[in-house]
This record gives sequence, C-alpha cells and structure tokens, in this order.
Amino acid sequence: MENKRRNFFTRLLGLSGFAILPSFVKAADSAVHVQSIRLSSQDGVTRLVFDLDSPVQHKLFALHDPERVVLDLQRSRLLNAGLLDDMRSGLLKSVRSGVRNVDDLRVVLDLSGKTQPSSFYLKPDKGEGHRLVIELKDPNFAAPVKQQEMRDVIIAIDAGHGGNDPGASGKLGTQEKQITLEIARKLEKEINDKPGMKAVMVRTSDRYMRLRDRIKKARDQNADLMVSIHADAFPDPRASGASVFALSVSGATSETARLLAEKENNVDMLFGNISLEDKDEMVQQVILDLSLTGTIQSSLDVGDEILAELSKVGNVHRQRVQQAGFAVLKAPNIPAILLETAFISNPREERKLRTPAHQTNVAKAVLRGVNDYFVRKAPPGTWLAQKGKVYTVRKGESLADISEKFGVPVKHIRTRNAIHGDQLKPGRELVIPQVV
Ligand SMILES: [Zn+2]
Repeated sequence: MENKRRNFFTRLLGLSGFAILPSFVKAADSAVHVQSIRLSSQDGVTRLVFDLDSPVQHKLFALHDPERVVLDLQRSRLLNAGLLDDMRSGLLKSVRSGVRNVDDLRVVLDLSGKTQPSSFYLKPDKGEGHRLVIELKDPNFAAPVKQQEMRDVIIAIDAGHGGNDPGASGKLGTQEKQITLEIARKLEKEINDKPGMKAVMVRTSDRYMRLRDRIKKARDQNADLMVSIHADAFPDPRASGASVFALSVSGATSETARLLAEKENNVDMLFGNISLEDKDEMVQQVILDLSLTGTIQSSLDVGDEILAELSKVGNVHRQRVQQAGFAVLKAPNIPAILLETAFISNPREERKLRTPAHQTNVAKAVLRGVNDYFVRKAPPGTWLAQKGKVYTVRKGESLADISEKFGVPVKHIRTRNAIHGDQLKPGRELVIPQVV
C-alpha cells in the first residue's frame, strides 16, 4: 500500500528519488527505527550500539576541528530524541542528531580527541535484534600497567604425631604430640604476625595423620616451606639440644639420623595403612626421589638458618643440619625441614619444653631462621621477593605520614601489612611495598 502511494507521488511529480518527497511521506513504515542506543567505554574504546528494527545502510566518517564522527543512517528515524541525552563516555562528549535528505538520519558524535571510527553490523541473535555497532578508539589510551598480584610466602607447620600416636614421652609424662602442637601454634602466630608470611597448620587438633597426608596438605596449600616439629627421645637421658634435619635420598649423615628417620617413619607402619605391595608406589617413589634432590639444597639452607637461631635460645645437639630419609620431608618441590626441638627424654629439657615461654622462644627462633632464608630466597611473585623496605613505625606516626614519606598509597601499605584500623603501634614493622 505504502509503496503504491510512494509510486503515485513519484509519478505525480514526475521525478525520481526519495529526496524530494513531501515531508509527510517520510513517516512511511519502511523507515528503519533506532529503538535505543547503548553506550559503553572500556580500555580506551568507546562503543555505541544502535538497536534497530531492521538492517540499515550507513556511512561513517570523521571530521576535524572540532573533532567529530558522523554517522548517516539511510531512511532511518530516531524513535525518541531523548535517547541522545547524557551520551558521554571516553572520547565521546555529546551526541546530536538531525534529518538529512528528508528521510535519512544523521548522528553526530562530538569528541574530545582524534579517533579512527569503525563500525560493524550484527544480525539478530540470542534475543538481540539488528544492531549497528560504532567503535571509537582513543589512540592516546595507555593501558594501565597491571600490578602483579603479590602473595605471601606460605609456611606449612606440621606438628608431629597426634591422635593415637603420642610420639615420644618424658619422665614427667609429657607427650611429644602435645608439645609439638603447642609449639606449632606459637609458630603459627609468629609467622602470621610477620608481614609477607602466612602459616598453614597441617594438624590443628589431637588427631592422627598419615605422613603422606601431611605432605599432601602442605602441597594443597601451595606451601613454600614445610617445617615439621618434633621432640627427640634417646635412651640416655643426658642427650640434649635441638637438631634440624633435612631429607636425604642417598643415605643418612649419621647412624643416629638414620635411626631417628626410621623411628619417625615407622609411625605410618604402626598406625597408618600403607600397602607395600603396590608396585606403582615403587615407581612413584623413584620419581619422587628425583624431584626431591633439587629441593634438598634449599632445605639444608633454611635448616642452617634455623639452627643458627636455635643455638641462640638454647643448646643444639649437632652444629650442622643432618640428613636422613624422613618420609614426611618427601614433599616434591617444597623445601622441608624436621626440627627436633629438644630431647623430651631429658628431664631438664622436658620441663623446659612444657613452659610456654620456652615454646615461644623456639617459635621465634624458627621464624627468624625462616625469615633470614626467605629474605635471600623468596619465591617470585611474593611480597618478600619484591624487596619491600621494612620500616619501623615511630611514635605518633600515622599511616598517612608513612604514605607521604615513601610516596606509596595508604591503601597499598594497608593491604601489604593487613592493617585494618587507623592506629599504628610505635615499633611495629611495616613492609613498604614498592610502587612499580
Ligand atoms: Zn617425633
């Protein structure tokens, strides 16, 4: 009907083309309707999506002084001029529209800078109708340098024994499993108080855990180091002092170390259920041993640091880190050390092991050793590896003061040091992250 009418007018005027049709004809239903315009801006690209009720022929070009982009839509109408209000995002300052050649729609995008405009058409799909998409790329947009996600160094603390495996026991009736858990908890607190470090407890209650499950837990928590805590026992009650052990895949450094490893390993034979018939386990063992060799050096390294610190809070049994085939230390790619804090079989040491003050001293010594190691060898991507400055808060200093002093946003200092309130205790150590 409409076409007939249009043809009638065309014939009537003896002219061709829609440009000179009387204005009332342009309301013809054959026009494309712009139903809505959606605006978004991301990563330097401003995008306008024109929702249409049918496909459209269009032209897009840029004009300069002032910068603008012109979009001509053939035989189109804007359903509601209010659609253009408040169209401002990225390069786009404002949008205007006008009628051109009687029934074409011209949309002018006023810009704050130069751009190379582009457009594409999308067919109806997944509930969306006909769409014409205009993209305005800001050539001066610089993607913000992505700050790498930093993480804490994770230390798995393994309190030896537990549950129906009490470990060694002293004359006063002290059980190793209890002492190890108490020291582990104190070490957990010391580590968690240290910026850049996080503790994960392998055993949190008085329960039995197989050695391989202990390793699995450390691995599942992505530990960077595992510290297994024990308290030694020896037939001669005079034996005393702390010892630090690392794994050996080739043999023990001493007969005592070998016997001790055997004793600690036997736990699973006595209390766990290991199938020794499993051939795959043999194969796994060989692969495991190979992957372990590389981490043993690191284990010896961190062991040395811990031993040096332990010698400051009590006597040590041997001056060097000893090695033996401890099953609990067989965590591939995780340096692991086993710490015999003292001889529970020595009455004097047993009494000491029971005192919270001594337990705290041991925990602090381990932390210092661990810290000395990670200061040198922090894994990439950790806060400690970022070599953030350590700063001691002075009396009366606020977060804002420190932020200004180092030119680091307060937010960064907060995140880095897990500060929630506004109060800063003088003497508190803060790691000042470097702003990249
Ligand atoms: Zn033990």
